[in-house]
Amino acid sequence: MQVFKFGGASVKNAESIINVASILKKNSDTKTIVVISAMAKTTNKLEELVNAYFYSEGDAQAILNELKNFHFAILLQLIPDKNNRIYNDIENIFLELLWTIEDEPTNNYNYYYDQIVSQGEVLATKIVSAYLNETEINNKWLDARGIIQTDNSYREGKVNYELSQHLVKTELMPFFKSINIVITQGFIGGTSENFTTTLGREGSDYTAALLAYFSDAEQVFIWKDVPGVLNADPKYFKNTKKIDELTYHDAIELTYYGASVIHPKTIKPLQNKNIPLFVKSFINPAEEGTVIKDSNKRSNVTSYIFKTNQILLSIQPKDFSFIAEDNLSNIFTILSRNNVHVNMMQNSAISFSICTDFDSHKINPLIEELQKEFKVLYNNPVQLMTIRNYDQDTITKLSADKIILIEQRSRNTHQMVLKDN
Ligand code: ASP
Ligand code: MG
Repeated sequence: MQVFKFGGASVKNAESIINVASILKKNSDTKTIVVISAMAKTTNKLEELVNAYFYSEGDAQAILNELKNFHFAILLQLIPDKNNRIYNDIENIFLELLWTIEDEPTNNYNYYYDQIVSQGEVLATKIVSAYLNETEINNKWLDARGIIQTDNSYREGKVNYELSQHLVKTELMPFFKSINIVITQGFIGGTSENFTTTLGREGSDYTAALLAYFSDAEQVFIWKDVPGVLNADPKYFKNTKKIDELTYHDAIELTYYGASVIHPKTIKPLQNKNIPLFVKSFINPAEEGTVIKDSNKRSNVTSYIFKTNQILLSIQPKDFSFIAEDNLSNIFTILSRNNVHVNMMQNSAISFSICTDFDSHKINPLIEELQKEFKVLYNNPVQLMTIRNYDQDTITKLSADKIILIEQRSRNTHQMVLKDN
C-alpha cells in the first residue's frame, strides 16, 4: 500500500491531469490511495466566493460562474462526450453551491466556509476519477467526509483518530479487494452530523499522512512542481538547493517555521509509524526528490523561510503592571478564542510582542478584544524571516536594506521580524 498526494498545481489544467494519469498508470500494480486537492487556485476563488456571499464583498454569482466555466472547460477537454454522467455530477455540485449562496446566512462564517470551500476538492476528485476510468485506469471515488471524522471546529477540524482509523478499515480498505486505485479528497472531513469540515489551508498533505497511518502504508509520495524540498522558496530566493534527505525531526522544524512545501501536521503521523515520505516532481517523476525518514544524519543545509504579509502586535498593560503570568494567560486566552496562531513572540518587562499572519477578518476582532484590557500597537505589513543553520553573514545580508523590529536566536534557528526600509 502506498499513498500519493497531488496538489492543486498538479491538476491545474487538462494537460496536468493527463500527466497525473500517466504517473498513476506506471504505478497501477501497487495498491494506491490517491489524495487530490482542488485544481489550481480554486480554493482561493472559493474563499472569494464565501466572502462575497457572507460579507457581501464582491459578486458571488460572477465568481461562481467563473469557477463553473473553469471546471467545465477542463472537463470538456478530458471527456468530450457530454452524455457522460460526470457532466451531471459536476452540474449538481454547482447547483448546490448556487442554492447555498441564494439563501441568507443563518450560521457562522466558518461553517459556510467549510461547506463551500470543500467543494473544490470534491470537483477535482470527481473529474480526475472520471477521466481515469475513461482511460481504463480503473479506480473508485471515495468521499473523504465519510472517513476522516472531525469535531465541528470549522476551518480546523480536529480529527477523531480512533473513529477515522475504524472507517478506513471498514469503508476504504475493502475497495482494494477488487481495485488498485482509490481516489479521495485531501483537506476535507465530516462531522458526526454529516456536515463538512476542513483541516486548515494546504491540509491535503495531512490527509495523505493520516490515510497512510491508518492503512499502514509502506510509503507516501507528495508530487510537486518543484524537484523536492528546497532550502528556500524559489518565489523569494535565487539559487535554491534541493535537500536530498531530511530526518522527520528536521522536516517538522522546517514546516513548523513555515516552509510551505509540506503541511506541518504531515510528519508526525508518518514518524509514529516510520513511514518514509518522498517529495517528488510530477514534471520529472523519474528524478529522485527528497526523502524524509528516520535517520541519525541531521541536515546542516542552511534553509530560509520567508513569510510575508505579517503583522507585529505589541501588547502592553494599561495599568502599571508588568508582563507576567496573569497578563500572559489572559493574552493567550484571547488569542486562542480568536483562532490566531502566533508565528513568533517575545516579551519585555512592559510589552509582549507577537508576529502573526495578517488576516484582517481575524486580526480586527482580536485587536478590538485586546484593547479592552491592553494598549495595542501594531506594525504591518512586516515579514518574518527564519534561518535554520544560520551564520552571522547570512543574517547581515538578508537584513541589509530592512529594519529589524525584533530578533531571536536559538542554537540552530534565527528569526527576525523585518520591515522595508
Ligand atoms: N486546496 C486546499 C488549499 O489550497 C488544500 C490543499 O491544497 O492542500 O488550501
Ligand atoms: Mg493547494
